[in-house]
Amino acid sequence: MEQWPIGVFTSLDAGLGVQIDVVSELNIPSIHLHAPHAGNRTQARAQEFLGVCADGGITITCVFCGFEGESYADIPTTAETVGLVPEATRAERVEDARETAKFARDLGCDTLGMHIGFVPLDRLGDSYKNLITTTQTFLDELAEYDQKLHLETGQETADHLLDFLGDVNRPNLYVNFDPANMILYGTGDPIEALKKVGPHVRSVHCKDAVWAPGEQRGKSWGREVALGEGDVDVRRYLQTLKDIGYKGPLTIERETPEDREGQKADIQKAVDILTSTKSSVLS
Ligand code: MG
Repeated sequence: MEQWPIGVFTSLDAGLGVQIDVVSELNIPSIHLHAPHAGNRTQARAQEFLGVCADGGITITCVFCGFEGESYADIPTTAETVGLVPEATRAERVEDARETAKFARDLGCDTLGMHIGFVPLDRLGDSYKNLITTTQTFLDELAEYDQKLHLETGQETADHLLDFLGDVNRPNLYVNFDPANMILYGTGDPIEALKKVGPHVRSVHCKDAVWAPGEQRGKSWGREVALGEGDVDVRRYLQTLKDIGYKGPLTIERETPEDREGQKADIQKAVDILTSTKSSVLS
């Protein structure tokens, strides 16, 4: 694959990505796929989807886990409900993630993505320690199939993410960097964060957002907007990706499934911005 192929976050029946027909219509060559609901992660479904991808010349570069009961309604609800962090659902969600890993293998994809949740701040606490061992065990299972896990950024600062990566200490744990999440959650300047976690970045999202005003930052959401319309400086973002040696896909994420036409138009615009910025940064 050429350096920085364009990609887009895509959904089958779960998640907020675009539908695969839009990917084909826009001639986008790679996707991150949000895993379908549990009952639909079948080998037959995988084969059928692979056929559609082959027809469109589309490569699946990452399959994202999603869990029943997650809600991104506001920041406190996200902290309570998302990923492997909530203790009450941790074991069943690891089991669910195992099924997604199997579905990814059926799709010929060696990379899983995940919002692990708000990693507890207390590194000496039981919840943190249990999260570490749970993550290590899951990663060791993935390693048996040569699979890796990319953690989505944003729910913690770059420094705390580095703590977590170091404490888990497994060679198949990497980062999916999302600059807009740093802004939406108010967890730090995305470019500075990217420089810090750079050596661990193996995939990225191209998404944009505006910061929540002043004292609300980190307490209530910033606002997601179309790429090029927010506080992510796309040129600096790509320049920094070049500086850290990242060569993988530039995967557009635009989560407005309630407005499919607007979502498609925003993605086309993002493709145009990335294509022109990419050629100028790489030249
Ligand atoms: Mg993202």
